[in-house]
Amino acid sequence: MNLYDSLHRELRRFEPGRPGSPGRVTVYGCGPTVYDYAHIGNFRTFIVYDLLHRHLRRRGHEVEFVVNFTDVDDKTIDGAAAAGRSLAEHTGPFIEAFLEDAGTLGFLPVSHHPRATEFIPAMVEFVGRLMDAGHAYRGADGSVYYSVATFDDYGKLSGKGGEEDSRRSRIDAAGFAKADPRDFALWKAAQPSDREVGAVWDSPWGAGRPGWHLECSVMVTSLLGDTVDIHVGGEDLLFPHHENEIAQSEAASGRPFARFWMHVKHLKVDDRKMSKSLGNFHTVRELVEEGHDPAAIRWVLLSAHYRSELNFTAGGLADGTEAVQRLLDFRRRMTEEVEGPGGPAAGAATTAAGKLAGRARRHLDAFDRAMDEDLNVPRALASVWGLVRDGNAALDASGGVSAEDREAALAALAEMDGRLGVLNLAAKTRDVDADTERRIREMVEARDRARKARDFAVADRLRAELEAQGVRLEDTPAGTRWKRVR
Ligand code: AMP
Ligand code: ZN
Repeated sequence: MNLYDSLHRELRRFEPGRPGSPGRVTVYGCGPTVYDYAHIGNFRTFIVYDLLHRHLRRRGHEVEFVVNFTDVDDKTIDGAAAAGRSLAEHTGPFIEAFLEDAGTLGFLPVSHHPRATEFIPAMVEFVGRLMDAGHAYRGADGSVYYSVATFDDYGKLSGKGGEEDSRRSRIDAAGFAKADPRDFALWKAAQPSDREVGAVWDSPWGAGRPGWHLECSVMVTSLLGDTVDIHVGGEDLLFPHHENEIAQSEAASGRPFARFWMHVKHLKVDDRKMSKSLGNFHTVRELVEEGHDPAAIRWVLLSAHYRSELNFTAGGLADGTEAVQRLLDFRRRMTEEVEGPGGPAAGAATTAAGKLAGRARRHLDAFDRAMDEDLNVPRALASVWGLVRDGNAALDASGGVSAEDREAALAALAEMDGRLGVLNLAAKTRDVDADTERRIREMVEARDRARKARDFAVADRLRAELEAQGVRLEDTPAGTRWKRVR
């Protein structure tokens, strides 16, 4: 498997780095700051985590996947203060909401969702280690700062923040508590607003709270060790957040912090940056309340390559809804003809028996290889549509499809969907129960009989009745097909 590593700025072959347990992969994704509902931009990034998780598993790895909650920082403290609540009272409901939205979008459960506030003692200990090693100092304001100048590799991830930047902006540092403008807070001395919401902990450097960068470094090392296989986040986190995580962690342990760095490009909405003032700031729950299908939302957020531009629009959602429906229809058709009364008998294999099975396996193989190439979803989707096309062609051909072919086609589809994760999600909201399905089939058959009898008034009435129930008919040379539309 090849992944694009932001540190080396190239595609690199990924192998897990644990000598003792070669199949085990550790991943850390920077999670939501829980001061508000996560928006669909955040969820573009989080869906890439889920895709990576699913594909690593498909490739046989035992994956330890950690996604944190940033539940103490400036925004959560300001939010709690504005709402007149304690920090925990303010962040708790947004953590719940995130987990609910993650369920709505069909995320695999991750191994741990640590909250920063659960790791304060480990953070204090970590700062102590950096102090002892001469990488940190107490500033004039009582906060503890990381001394960037003590870490030679500073800037290796982002190319930013070197000596040049420091010299250029040194003048700005005059009057500040820091020795160097590049330095950043590891431990922030308590402010009145921190005390107001209960965001204050004791430390050898006085009461205060951890800095955001420190939080992630400590959750990574506490849960996954000094070196994590893959560290992932949105592109905005590359600098300074991830640069600072590297500086702290590598200075503390003397080991490489992450073997691979992945960054997800930001989502745009209607061609613009998302913002509350532009009114294009959507949450998952709002979209679902407006009647959008979670599977379609998931499809849209997945469908572009994670390092490419993705623009979220109403048209894109409509296309996503249709794409998911096509897959559902294909699965139903393939399944129905296995089980359905009208399907060909199991023994009615054609001369081409086994041909579809062979093709299905090739499509699945191409899908897997596309995912191995830095999670190339657009290329993988071409294989999905190749399978649907070949499968439908085989079903349309006279003579029927052999049981082996149908099973192979369904198995390939299921494996692909093991990564995409849309079919079962869509089935929850769109598929119909067995009774409804029987009733729809009876109406479709009655309409077919009416058409044969040239009783078009009855046929049209039945079509309209079905349409009103959200069932659309399609007349094909192979007979009438139906699908569920919203
Ligand atoms: P935050 O809650 O702000 O800490 O962000 C959580 C995650 O969402 C981080 O990995 C961010 O980089 C990512 N993120 C924020 N905005 C967007 C966006 N518009 N598109 C994709 N990812 C985003
Ligand atoms: Zn982080």
